Amino acid sequence: MARARRPLIAGNWKMNGLRADGVALARAVAGLVKRVGWADRDILVCPPATLLMTVAEAVAGSGVAVGGQDCHASAKGAHTGDIAAEMLRDAGATYVIVGHSERRTNCGETDAAVRAKAEAAWRAGLLPIVCIGETLAEREAGRTLDILAAQLEGSVPAGATAARLVVAYEPVWAIGTGKTPTTAEISAAHAHIRKVLAGLTGEAAGVRLLYGGSVKGSNAAELLAVADVDGALIGGASLLADEFLAIAKAA
Ligand code: PEP
Repeated sequence: MARARRPLIAGNWKMNGLRADGVALARAVAGLVKRVGWADRDILVCPPATLLMTVAEAVAGSGVAVGGQDCHASAKGAHTGDIAAEMLRDAGATYVIVGHSERRTNCGETDAAVRAKAEAAWRAGLLPIVCIGETLAEREAGRTLDILAAQLEGSVPAGATAARLVVAYEPVWAIGTGKTPTTAEISAAHAHIRKVLAGLTGEAAGVRLLYGGSVKGSNAAELLAVADVDGALIGGASLLADEFLAIAKAA
């Protein structure tokens, strides 16, 4: 029987990679994905904007998709240093990450800003990966589920469907720290996210929910086996082709 939700393994390279190493990494990932010929999962890499076009060319024909790490809400205009969703699309992207905790924290992005970016992604024909997640203080205060609900309600635009939305649950304290929640904690968070999504879209059961935060080859099988986890958003480990592909194999 076909899986209801197709797993998505997404690498977020963040602000890493010059042309030579970016191309080498993209080629290594594309080579293996092409050889294995996975028909049952989606593989995505999100390089820095400077490498989007180059990486899109390097992975062309391999089945690996390319995404942006952020976009502006507007299609064009006086926004020095920003990148429109349309520009990402034009460079070869089909996905864009919005609301990553590093942008929420470092750039003060609010839920409303993230929602506008997700709408911009739709306008440009991109699939947004909307990131949400609690801080350690919020978890310790027992507020995790409330925080996730508030972020979802504020960040997911009206009109979301299973085909037009991916949500990534990324506890802020698990990103880049080597720490992960227990599988029971991830399961509770994902079940809650799907419940909240049901109030936002009639297609909540089909929306892919990724887990992100210190996923690596050695813990991927356990994390990806959790109910309601439909893939992973991977930072550090996505910079190593073997690690990234080990995670993809575990999906
Ligand atoms: C991320 O930044 O989205 C992330 C999950 O990072 P890491 O895998 O390095 O924890």
